[in-house]
Amino acid sequence: MPQHSELLGLCLQQLTDVTDRFGEPPYRARQLFDGLYRQRWSQLEQFSPLPADFRRRLHEAGYSVGLPRSEARFLSEDGTVRYLLAFADGQSVETVWMPEGDGGEAGDGSASGDEELESKTWSRATICVSSQVGCAVDCKFCMTALLGLLRNLTAGEILGQILAVMQDQQVDLERDRLNLVFMGQGEPFLNYDNFMQAVRLLVDGVGFTESRMTVSTSGIVPRIADFAAEAVRPKLAVSLNAANEALRTQIMPITKKWTIEKLIASLRNFPLRNRERLTFEYVLLNGVNDEAVHAREVAELIRGLRAKINLIALNSGPDIPFSTPAADRVLAFQRILRDAGIPAFIRRPRGRDIYAACGQLKHTTELVGL
Ligand code: SAH
Ligand code: SF4
Repeated sequence: MPQHSELLGLCLQQLTDVTDRFGEPPYRARQLFDGLYRQRWSQLEQFSPLPADFRRRLHEAGYSVGLPRSEARFLSEDGTVRYLLAFADGQSVETVWMPEGDGGEAGDGSASGDEELESKTWSRATICVSSQVGCAVDCKFCMTALLGLLRNLTAGEILGQILAVMQDQQVDLERDRLNLVFMGQGEPFLNYDNFMQAVRLLVDGVGFTESRMTVSTSGIVPRIADFAAEAVRPKLAVSLNAANEALRTQIMPITKKWTIEKLIASLRNFPLRNRERLTFEYVLLNGVNDEAVHAREVAELIRGLRAKINLIALNSGPDIPFSTPAADRVLAFQRILRDAGIPAFIRRPRGRDIYAACGQLKHTTELVGL
C-alpha cells in the first residue's frame, strides 16, 4: 500500500479499484466521487455517507483527499489574487483568481440579471490554472520559462487548484459565473493525459460546462489533433506571437519542431462547435513583433479561419529582454487587424503589481502576502 495517496483526481473507475481493494461495494466508489467533486469535501471525516470504519481504514492506508495547501496569497490593487498552492511533495504552483465587477463582458449576452450578491463584490470571475511546475517550452518573453520544467501536475493537482480557490472565495457554482482558463504555469499539451482527465472530472463531477473553459497551447501540433477528437473539450487558444517563421523561432524556439505551417494546418482541420471560434494570443514586444508589417502577416496567415485575436502588451519582469509597447502602438496593431476583418481585442493586464499577469508566474514571493 502506498505511503500517501490522494483521492482527488481519480475517476469513477479508479475509485472503484480503491473500493474493491478494501472489499467495499462499488456504490461506495460513487459516494467517494460525489463527495470529492460534487460536494467538494476536503477532509475524509466529511464523507458522512461512508461508514466510519471505511473512512478510518482509508486514512490508515495513507489515503487523503489531497487538496493543495495555500502557502501564500497576494492581492492586487485590481482585485486579482495570486495563490501559491503547495502539493504533498512540497512543490508548488501559482493559481490566479480574477474577479469582475457586475455586468459581465459587454455584449456576451450572459449577464446574470440583477440579483443581489450580498457581500460579494464580484459577479463573475475567472480562475487561471497551472498544468505543470515550470515549463520546458522556453519562450523568450515568459518568466515561467526561466524555471525550466520541474514536473508535471497530476489530474488531481490540476483540479485541486480550482477547488482550493473556489473554497477560499466561497464560490457557489449554482449562482456565480466562473470561467476557467488553463493558462497558468506550464504547457497543458505537454501534460495532455492529466490535463484531459482533470477536464473530464470538472465536467462530469464538479459540474462545469466545457464552454466556460479555455486551454492555451504554444502549438504542440500532435496534441492539437488529439484534442480535436475529444468528445468533451475546452475551447482552444493558441499562442501565436509572430506570423513569420524566423521571428517566431527567435522568440518561441519550439517553432523549429512544429512550424507555423504545420500549426496552421492543424487548426484548419479543427472541428469547431456551433458558434465557437479559435483564439490566437499575441504578446506584443516593443519593436520586435509589433510593427505594421507583422500585423499584416498575421492577417494573411489566419485568413479563412474562424478566429479572434487577443493582443497582450508584454508584461515585463526581471530577466525578460523585451519591453512593453506604448498604448498607441498596440492600438495601431489592433486597427490593422480589424481593418482586415479580424476580430482583435486588447487584453487588459490583471495583477501586474503582484506578478500575477500572463507570463509572470514564477513563484515571486518577495512581496507581502495577505
Ligand atoms: N503555455 C501555454 C499556456 C500558458 S501561457 C501557452 O503558452 O499558450 C499563457 C499566455 O501568456 C500565452 O499566450 C503566452 O504567450 C502569454 N505570455 C507569456 N509571457 C508573457 C508576458 N511576459 N507578457 C504577456 N503575455 C505573456
Ligand atoms: Fe511555457 Fe507558455 Fe511560458 Fe511558453 S508562454 S514558456 S509555453 S508557459
